[in-house]
Amino acid sequence: MSSSAPITQDVMTIPRKLPDSDKTNLVGLTRDGMRTALLEAGTPEKQIKMRLNQVWQWVYHWGVRDFAQMTNLSKDYRALLADRFEISLPEVVSRQVSADGTRKYLVRIAGGHEVEVVYIPETDRGTLCISSQVGCTLTCSFCHTGTQKLVRNLTAGEIVGQIMLARDDLDEWPTPGAPKDETRLLSNIVLMGMGEPLYNFDNVRDAMNIAMDGEGIALSRRRITLSTSGVVPEIARCAEEIGCLMAVSFHATTDAVRDKLVPINKRWNIESLLDALRAYPRLSNSERITFEYVMLKDVNDSDADARRLVKLIQGIPAKINLIPFNEWPGAPYERSDWSRIEAFADIVHKAGYASPIRTPRGEDIMAACGQLKSATERARKSRRAIEAEAGLSS
Ligand code: SAH
Ligand code: SF4
Repeated sequence: MSSSAPITQDVMTIPRKLPDSDKTNLVGLTRDGMRTALLEAGTPEKQIKMRLNQVWQWVYHWGVRDFAQMTNLSKDYRALLADRFEISLPEVVSRQVSADGTRKYLVRIAGGHEVEVVYIPETDRGTLCISSQVGCTLTCSFCHTGTQKLVRNLTAGEIVGQIMLARDDLDEWPTPGAPKDETRLLSNIVLMGMGEPLYNFDNVRDAMNIAMDGEGIALSRRRITLSTSGVVPEIARCAEEIGCLMAVSFHATTDAVRDKLVPINKRWNIESLLDALRAYPRLSNSERITFEYVMLKDVNDSDADARRLVKLIQGIPAKINLIPFNEWPGAPYERSDWSRIEAFADIVHKAGYASPIRTPRGEDIMAACGQLKSATERARKSRRAIEAEAGLSS
């Protein structure tokens, strides 16, 4: 979308209660965690199975925030829960709506830090792009988030909380007694927001297991895609402990170029990354790996690159997602010309791989891939530092 497109911005502030520090937040607790918490609060051992199911469903299936509404629990038990626990989500500071319907939420978490969450409506699905860290320790030279220092990992509650606050905003919690709604506005999750999810493994795993639980948010593991820059040792663990779909930020076909674009490549190179990916479909019982490939003018977009790419991934069930580079202020790259992107896609397609070109969404509100970065976060790397780390300045 060009910058002259009409911008519909609906900036609003949704006040929300901040967590009371003396109470345990139930949001983010796994079944095991919630079980322990309820027992410690005094739930009798012989009731724990039933109570856990009830509370779990109120929190994660019905989206209830007030213990008084948990009508299948006795008044005394509700009072006990209210005394010990809270059900709270990160605070939505603002919501912007793009001309194309994309919604970007700026979300404040404990400590005053901010992360971004993006909802992308499509005809056959609605995808929520969630963040796993504030900033990122990695420094991919084309990524806006990479210019922001890591502030901290998000907790499991802050990760699953992003899904829950989007369901609030979409008004999509089921109503008690109503039949299950199969056509959801929020049907898919992509871990493609800020941060490297495999560097916050335990919290991401817990949050996704909560999201997949059939008696809670109940999203199928095939509707969740985790994108990694290539943290090779955690890929097998992701298959075994989460089992969601895998996307990888591939972006280059030689180690020399990938070292500059995705510096984690200096630690785990293309060959070791491909070895880990080859094992993924079997370990996770899933089908295809998505290879993300950002199209950067004169950097990684030649016909020779396209041919090398299909050769490298030979034997891996794959889809190649071509991402036209999304520019941000001070970015050291340009987007490849459209004709170049199509020529590249054509070579990949003729080799037998699906090669969709990702339409940039929400560009007018800086919500497109790789544009996320909280404007108020002051810990910034300078452009020179990014270029130096990526080896671009020499
Ligand atoms: N840290 C993870 C997930 C977040 S990034 C990862 O790197 O995979 C989600 C996707 O957007 C990645 O493929 C990333 O490489 C890509 N991306 C980052 N900056 C971009 C930009 N400016 N334009 C287009 N895609 C970008
Ligand atoms: Fe971090 Fe991913 Fe951006 Fe790289 S592309 S800096 S890993 S968020």
